[in-house]
Amino acid sequence: MFQCLDEDQRLERGRELWRTAQAAPFYCRKFAGCAEPRDWPAWRALPPLTRQELYDNAWPRSGEMLTQPPEGMIVTSTGGTTGMARYTVLTHDEWDRFCDEQARALRLIGVGPSDRVANLLVAGSLWPSFLGGHEIIKRIGALHLPISANIPVETVLRFCREFRPTVMMSLPTLFVFLADLALKDAIPFPELRLVGYAGEHMSPAVRDHVRRGLGEQVEIHALAYTSADAGLMGYQCMRCAPNEYHVPTAFQLVEIMDMERERPAGPGETGELLVTNLARRSQPVIRYRIGDRGSWTGSPCPCGDPNPLLRLAGRAGDDFKLGGAYIAMGAVEQAVEAVAGVAGISPNHTLILADEENRLALELRVEAGDPVAAQREAFRVVEELEAHIPELKVARAREYLARLDVRFVPLGSLERSPVTGKVRRLEDRRVEEK
Ligand SMILES: [Zn+2]
Repeated sequence: MFQCLDEDQRLERGRELWRTAQAAPFYCRKFAGCAEPRDWPAWRALPPLTRQELYDNAWPRSGEMLTQPPEGMIVTSTGGTTGMARYTVLTHDEWDRFCDEQARALRLIGVGPSDRVANLLVAGSLWPSFLGGHEIIKRIGALHLPISANIPVETVLRFCREFRPTVMMSLPTLFVFLADLALKDAIPFPELRLVGYAGEHMSPAVRDHVRRGLGEQVEIHALAYTSADAGLMGYQCMRCAPNEYHVPTAFQLVEIMDMERERPAGPGETGELLVTNLARRSQPVIRYRIGDRGSWTGSPCPCGDPNPLLRLAGRAGDDFKLGGAYIAMGAVEQAVEAVAGVAGISPNHTLILADEENRLALELRVEAGDPVAAQREAFRVVEELEAHIPELKVARAREYLARLDVRFVPLGSLERSPVTGKVRRLEDRRVEEK
């Protein structure tokens, strides 16, 4: 079980971390003029930590965020969706604590010593996920198959057919790819009971697709809500909806703020998440704008765990501008998902924005088992796009767009991040407007 701290205890831990952070020149400067946070208003007066600050000040670019010399540490990297790699340093003890919390989360979703776990996470590039996978599977005492996602997917499939894992851990992008191949070649996975994903959100349509490919008996679960910078921010019990997480209050101080009104969001109100890891002392992360939105459900969980329930509501700023309107990438995702499964069409896609003769050109590339056959369904994707994004229909009718093309490409051919293995959803080739 995860320990639960009350409001006073959370503030006290935050305050201790604030004191520790004073040893780092960066925080000394950042919090100059702020009183020691003895109550919540004083805590909320501490300026949030931005991604840019973390990027500019983290070791080895600068040692200004460290409270101790960078010895006896492990360095990991976060690719992030912006393409800016941020490095995270943790002492080996802090790393162990991060892994202990993750293992606890995995146990709660039913992974135990009798499982065979295929670790299909990404290794290399300082990326922590594959190594973390190793640590947590070891803590659980399950059989570990360290296959990784770094090898050809056909080889992943071969190992999985030979060793018959009961649990697979990977990214949604890879599960979609595995499901596409399994559907194409009618490969069954009768022993597989749990697909645990991390790193990206998996929508209901994608979950259906993965189940179609890997087996209707398969349970699909987020491994946890986590980040390299802050570690475990949320875990699921058996009663949590797919986007709901308990916050481990003894490990992470999570705030949901209405940033425009500069006040905490009330129960059910969506705001931006600020996270403070209570265990990371060598390079503290205090009130970090993690880039996600969410709300407190405000209701106790039927499982009886008193740690509060957080409902995630997507990325803050994961959108693009069309004319004057912001279009959420989630709308594009829903349009593709509405057609996924037809003619071997995969949910994996990339939207490319370009400038052609001073007009916006949109090209949506979608992976498919048989791109030629799928091309006949292109009009359906366009219809879905227009249904999900009314601004797009208007822009087309008024000829504001240079073109809107849907192209199908072979499975696995869209650009993946070398660090995270995620398909790049949006590629903006336009010159940035100031
Ligand atoms: Zn619960």
